[in-house]
Amino acid sequence: MPNQNIRVRFAPSPTGPLHIGGIRTALYNYLFAKKHGGTFILRIEDTDQGRYVPGAEEYIVESLKWCGLLPEEGPGFGGSYGPYRQSERKDMYAKYANDLVKNNGAYYAFDTPEELEEKRKAEAEKGNHNFKYDGATRLEMKNSLTLSKQEVQQMLDSGAPYVIRLKVPENEAVTFQDLVRGEVTFQTNELDDKVLLKGDGMPTYHLANIVDDHLMDITHVIRGEEWLPSTGHHVLLYKAFGWEATMPQFSHLPLILKPDGKGKLSKRDGAKFGIPVFPLGWKGETPEDSFDGFREFGFLPEAVLNFLAFLGWNPGTEQEIFSLDELCEAFSIEKISKGGARFDYDKAKWYNQQYLHAANGEALAETLKPYLAAHGYEATDSYLTEVCNLMKDRLAVLTDFVGQAYFFFTDIKFFDNEKIARHWNPESRGTFEALAAQLNKLAPFDATGIEAVVKNFMEEHHLKMGQVMPVLRLALTGTVQGPAVYEMMAVLGKERVSDRLGKAFDYFDKENG
Ligand code: GLU
Repeated sequence: MPNQNIRVRFAPSPTGPLHIGGIRTALYNYLFAKKHGGTFILRIEDTDQGRYVPGAEEYIVESLKWCGLLPEEGPGFGGSYGPYRQSERKDMYAKYANDLVKNNGAYYAFDTPEELEEKRKAEAEKGNHNFKYDGATRLEMKNSLTLSKQEVQQMLDSGAPYVIRLKVPENEAVTFQDLVRGEVTFQTNELDDKVLLKGDGMPTYHLANIVDDHLMDITHVIRGEEWLPSTGHHVLLYKAFGWEATMPQFSHLPLILKPDGKGKLSKRDGAKFGIPVFPLGWKGETPEDSFDGFREFGFLPEAVLNFLAFLGWNPGTEQEIFSLDELCEAFSIEKISKGGARFDYDKAKWYNQQYLHAANGEALAETLKPYLAAHGYEATDSYLTEVCNLMKDRLAVLTDFVGQAYFFFTDIKFFDNEKIARHWNPESRGTFEALAAQLNKLAPFDATGIEAVVKNFMEEHHLKMGQVMPVLRLALTGTVQGPAVYEMMAVLGKERVSDRLGKAFDYFDKENG
């Protein structure tokens, strides 16, 4: 029975364009929700105004739309747990932090930045270069645990700046079951007293994230491995709030590794390896900060999702091609791997190729229209569909199309002269003209008819395939490559073929006369 109560969220921070790893996180959340009849939520974690990048939220939403991972709840998507942008919820968080202070799970800390710096220096002089505000040091600091009640009240009344810090209990082991990694334990003595509420009254990521997961009834947190170290604090926060019974279950996804397997895939790897590492293009302030994404590299979103699904998960069978619906059906958290997944760009292209081969010609034509227009070419829908049906098996990415198929839309721009020298014999011009004349009489001008004409002609004139086919190809495409000759001629149509053969023979003679 599907569990109607499963609620998962994708909670990106709009600090820049979303890395492809973010899309994988969104995908796994989406798949898990759909598999269980649950709800997929988008929450924008934008409390850190210092790191806010204009346009990043729009980029996130556009990326999800491009991939077809539409949230049921989120900013602009509706839902009854909103607002879904943390900056619009900011007034709620202080109350929760203050509640924790009241029940002794947190405390006010009044240390100024200068005082903290002094303490850090003093510790460094004693040989401790890693000062932490924690159970071992908090009683040496200026906070509501060391000041008297009156002093604290006076500080608060005077408007002195303060933060609220989590009071991490001493000598405890915090344990939780990660659905990917199994049991994970943190020793509280290694955890610092994280700031929950900042001096400006804004919550930190930790506070806002836990409060919102609680208020939004999130049942499962599925996120990147980089958040695993924070989870000890998160579990402590659930305990401190008394929300343990409804604490979500955690799943931390494996890292995505560089193409060479050496370390974590980073934003800069796109430029370094000449590959996309973002879903969509991004225009930053500088050229170094601007790049193309999978979309601009000519990928179909379905192929990108299929590729990403396998970066850290596999169904345990040989099947590699999965539609989004099939992925929803097959997905399970138990089959997510713990180890990092290498970002193999060739595999991404392989997926794209499979999707292009399987694409419906009409749909592909629709997708390719803008590419054609960008080159100033025009074609009717039906002609473009025929070209797509003929060419789709030869494409790896959409951006290959115009380069490989331009001759369907305009005159030949490039002749492979070396091949012409090899295959064109000026003395056989008459023969080829006779063939052209026979083709010109053919009606209907379809592949079967064309094949019959060409084969009969070869037989009559005692010609071999190798003497005729390369010449026809060179005349029609300029090279000896391209799709099946008879089908290609049928698509080009009688007039274009006749015109092109005539012009090409002239050119061949000129080149090779
Ligand atoms: N805002 C965090 C991020 O940018 C969310 C991490 C989480 O899912 O808890 O990824």
